[in-house]
Amino acid sequence: MKTKILAELRRATGYVSGQALCEEFNVSRTAIWKAINTLKKEGYEIEAVQNKGYRLVRVPEILSQKELESIRATKWLATEYHYYESIDSTNTVAKKLAEEGAPHGTVVVAGTQTGGKGRRGRVWETPAGTSISMTYVLKPDMMPGNASMLTLVMAMAVVRAIESLTQLHPKIKWPNDIVMNGKKICGILTEMSAQMDYINHIVVGTGINVLNESFPQELEEKATSIYLESGEAVQRAQLIEAINEQFEHYYEQFMETQDMSRLDKEYNTLLVNLGGQVRVEGGKEPYVGNSRGISERGELIVDTWEARRLVSSGEVSVRGVYGYV
Ligand code: ATP
Repeated sequence: MKTKILAELRRATGYVSGQALCEEFNVSRTAIWKAINTLKKEGYEIEAVQNKGYRLVRVPEILSQKELESIRATKWLATEYHYYESIDSTNTVAKKLAEEGAPHGTVVVAGTQTGGKGRRGRVWETPAGTSISMTYVLKPDMMPGNASMLTLVMAMAVVRAIESLTQLHPKIKWPNDIVMNGKKICGILTEMSAQMDYINHIVVGTGINVLNESFPQELEEKATSIYLESGEAVQRAQLIEAINEQFEHYYEQFMETQDMSRLDKEYNTLLVNLGGQVRVEGGKEPYVGNSRGISERGELIVDTWEARRLVSSGEVSVRGVYGYV
């Protein structure tokens, strides 16, 4: 009931009368008063005025099941939330939930991860109270070969959501990172369980540095946060909700063609190094070329002095010629 009361207070533009809440939830005035008091203890600032009712004045920076559910305004994504204070990795839990039958659109969120992962088994740091670690469970009816493009769809959603809440204009470092001023603000890890021609499930995991005021020495050169870049303390639950709304929008466009043909032009405007030189590493031989944006299949188009190459995600890393970006 507390989640529903919170959702009511959030939706209302003014005061919500105690009587209306009693009637809606079919409980006594005292029960409403008690629920309001618990919310206050949790940090929600709620004003109570006689003959008017309750009004939500301020929401604390808090990540919880209740906070996420009460802010939710999406159509199909996050109809099921699984919030954990601390877990191994949201991708690992999401995969397990998917196998156990969690529906398409389930979202796993963690306060902190003890075993956060990057690509190829690398470590992703998520200090408690500062970052977002979340994973979508998706069960689309499409060919497994199209799944890696969901990383690109997610990257667009994260950039647009950050733009909607801050003055920042982050860029995408193809395929799975989001950067600001040459440093990483977000990483995305997409994993899939599939048969030859059938997807069991896809998990799209996202780690975002939101409120971090500093980073451990080994990450300082490479990592930054929304707070460090903008000076703004964005509320994580609000950012998650904004990302979810953006993802619904882009995902629906993606699914119409099951490729990037509706999204590639917009994607390319968000791509870091577009038109500039990049170094493609991790294949047989590293090479340098000009980045021309993505193809309709989500590959990065790189023109070298000899030929045009289409780079598929998964196999390689793309770097700036002089550094990480
Ligand atoms: P690539 O360019 O190949 O994608 P990457 O270094 O970005 O390489 P990922 O697998 O995407 O690799 O991410 C893991 C790496 O990100 C780690 O090796 C570490 O250097 C860095 N990293 C770990 N935690 C964070 C964080 N919270 N913020 C930014 N960077 C991080």
